[in-house]
Amino acid sequence: MALRVEQDIFVVRQRGREVAAAVGLEHQDQVRIATALSEVARDLLRTADGADVTFLIGFDVVAGRHVLYVDLAPVRPLPNGSYQPQSGAVARLVDMLGVVADEGDTVVRMSRRVPANSPALTPERLAELRAELGSTAPGTALDELADQNGQLIAALDEVRSQRDELEVLNSELQETNRGVMALYNQLTEELEETNRGVVALYAELDEKSAQLRAASESKSRFLANVSHELRAPVTAIIGLSRLLADSASDPLTAEQARQVGLIRSSAADLLGLVNELLDLAKAESGRIEPNWADVDLRPLYGQLRGTLRALATRPEVELVVEEPPHPATVRSDEVLLAQVLRNLLHNGLKFTERGEVRLRAERRDDRWSLSVSDTGVGIPRELHERVFEEFYQVPGATRVGGTGLGLPYARRLVMLLGGTLELSSELGRGSTFTVTLPVGGA
Ligand code: ADP
Repeated sequence: MALRVEQDIFVVRQRGREVAAAVGLEHQDQVRIATALSEVARDLLRTADGADVTFLIGFDVVAGRHVLYVDLAPVRPLPNGSYQPQSGAVARLVDMLGVVADEGDTVVRMSRRVPANSPALTPERLAELRAELGSTAPGTALDELADQNGQLIAALDEVRSQRDELEVLNSELQETNRGVMALYNQLTEELEETNRGVVALYAELDEKSAQLRAASESKSRFLANVSHELRAPVTAIIGLSRLLADSASDPLTAEQARQVGLIRSSAADLLGLVNELLDLAKAESGRIEPNWADVDLRPLYGQLRGTLRALATRPEVELVVEEPPHPATVRSDEVLLAQVLRNLLHNGLKFTERGEVRLRAERRDDRWSLSVSDTGVGIPRELHERVFEEFYQVPGATRVGGTGLGLPYARRLVMLLGGTLELSSELGRGSTFTVTLPVGGA
């Protein structure tokens, strides 16, 4: 088609829309391409004295769709060989708008993809379309104007309905916003409520632990006071019963002597218990201050070997105190440490019928492991922690005597020395109590 005079712009526009409709573009796209075409045509008429307009159908292999191309070959060369539409919005009406070289000539090309669902564009169909378009005479400028008006009205209508839709959407959005705000407020309130609850809970917890601390302190104080008060009368009973049984006193009948003996041994047991209670109360109230010094384990072990041999009265049980590896020093309190080990060895000897009770010392990096192991009755796994509770004795163990205060006291002392006291044992296979101490002290 030739575009030479103003009038031709209307014809080109009209033809553009007809071709677009014929190849299957949707109504909106028909208007778009027709509008873009009339704008470009107007530009080229002004800058290049017109153009020859060709409609082409191509196939985009990548998209798998037909594409409608409109080429406008300018009559005179384009200024600077380039083309820029007067209005920037024109390029947005089509998929592509630009200058391309076509067989040496420069043409302005625009394109729009044909929808996939439009009727197939076979060569026969294209020939048919060509014939159809050739037979219809282009309308006048007035026809085209009427047509454009119609399109404008339709576009305005669409804009209005879009605006209405937008208003509905907006009000829905506001509604949703209000809902979200209400939810947010509710959540904030709930969070504050929960926070208040947590704060109250913490306050209660603090109060409870203060009460617990106070209770534990008063228990220690009570134990210390009672045992202290008991010591004097019990010691007096022991002294008096010793006096009664003394050969210098009036002779007793055999029965009286037996009863006085019973009083004395019961009082001695009671004194033992009172002393242990006092020790434990002192350790718990933190009134024991370790006397820190570099302790050599070898003389300490030698001393234990000597004093405990007297307790190892069963010939079937051997007491083995191994020589500690050299150098054998640890920063600790010798008296407290000896007390702990003596207690563990004593227990070992008490609860072992045959085999051995062994004390060893092992150095691992910056810690000493001092272990007392025996081949005795052992302690069931589920009672491993309970034996460290005050007064707890494994059922059946009471017949060998004791108070159930030795292990809790030993653990307290080891903690004071900056270490731990652990037990590993199996019922019937013996037990191992291990004191682990830092070489450099607490
Ligand atoms: P006591 O020996 O005065 O009863 P302890 O606190 O020293 O109190 O020990 C608590 C209990 O732990 C003991 O009564 C005994 O049942 C158990 N126990 C302690 N040492 C051993 C051991 N070496 N072998 C088996 N049981 C033990």
